[in-house]
Amino acid sequence: MSDKMIITFLGTSSAPPQADRSQSSMSLKYRRHNLLFDVGEGTQFQMVKNKISMKNLTILLTHLHSDHTLGLIGLLTTRDFYSISSPVTIIGPPWTSSFVFLQLLAYRLEPDYEIKIIETEGGIVTSNDDFYIESFKVSHSENSFGYKIETHKPLGVFNVEKAEEKEIQKGKLWNRIQNGFPIEIDGKIIYPSEIMDDSQAKQFKVVITGDTNICQSVINKASEADLLIHDATYPHTEERRAKKYLHSTCVDAARVAKFSNVKKLVMTHISTLHENLNESLESTQKIFPNSVFAEDGLRIILDPKDY
Ligand SMILES: [Zn+2]
Ligand SMILES: [Zn+2]
Repeated sequence: MSDKMIITFLGTSSAPPQADRSQSSMSLKYRRHNLLFDVGEGTQFQMVKNKISMKNLTILLTHLHSDHTLGLIGLLTTRDFYSISSPVTIIGPPWTSSFVFLQLLAYRLEPDYEIKIIETEGGIVTSNDDFYIESFKVSHSENSFGYKIETHKPLGVFNVEKAEEKEIQKGKLWNRIQNGFPIEIDGKIIYPSEIMDDSQAKQFKVVITGDTNICQSVINKASEADLLIHDATYPHTEERRAKKYLHSTCVDAARVAKFSNVKKLVMTHISTLHENLNESLESTQKIFPNSVFAEDGLRIILDPKDY
C-alpha cells in the first residue's frame, strides 16, 4: 500500500462561474481512503475528468454555501445510477442532516446505499488506523469549519530476529504485532515497539481552511503543517473587501502560512478580481516563498520519500 498522500484540486473558483475554474472541491487520497472536501457545482464532472472514484467516499463539507455544496445531489444521484453499493459518509456543520434529507426528498432520490451523516461543531470528526480528522471554527458564515488531517506514525518493519528471540510463535501472534496490538505470552506483555523496527515513514499534517477571513484558529491548527490550503479569494489590494465578506486576500494566506511555519501553501477559491495572478503570486511569495495558486486539476503529492 502506498504511503503517498495525493491531493487533487477539482474546483478552485469563488462562487461566480469562470470559464476555466469549477466551484470548490478537492480530493484527498491516502492509502484506502477516498476523501472529498466540498462539492461545488460540477464536482462529479471534475471527478470523472480527474479519474477520482465515487466508491467508498467520505465527503467533508466546510460549510453549506451553495458554491461548496451544489454538486452533492448530482453526485449522490450518479452513485445510485451506477448502483454503487458502498456507503457514503457526509461530515458537515449543524443542519447537514436536514440539508441532505430535504434534497433527497425534493429529488425523490432513495439510494440503495447507506448515507451516514456526522454533524460537527468542532473536534474530532473521524479517526481510523491511518489518520484522524479534526474540524475547527473559522471566520466566515456562522457555521463554517476548517479541517485538519493528521496521519498516525506508521508502524515500522517487523523484525523477525527480535520475534524469534522472544519466542513468539509464527502466525496469529505475529499478525497481531504487525497490526499494532500488544500480545501476552506466559503472563508477560510484549508491545509492538519491542518487535517492530522504527518506521522511516513520515506523518503528514494537512490543513484545509474552506472560506475564511484571516483568523487565529487556522494559525493554531496549521502550526508546522506540511501543507496549508487557504482561502485566497482576493488580491492583496482588496483587504477591506476581504474583511467585509469574510474571505482572505492572497497576502492574508501568506501571513498565516508564515505565522504557522507550514512547509507549503496552496491558495484557492480564486475570484476574477485577481486580474494578474502572477502579480498576486509575487505579493505572496515576498512573505511566504513556497506558495502557489491552485488550478483545476492541480495535483499535490506528499511522498514520505521526499522527507
Ligand atoms: Zn465559497
Ligand atoms: Zn462561503
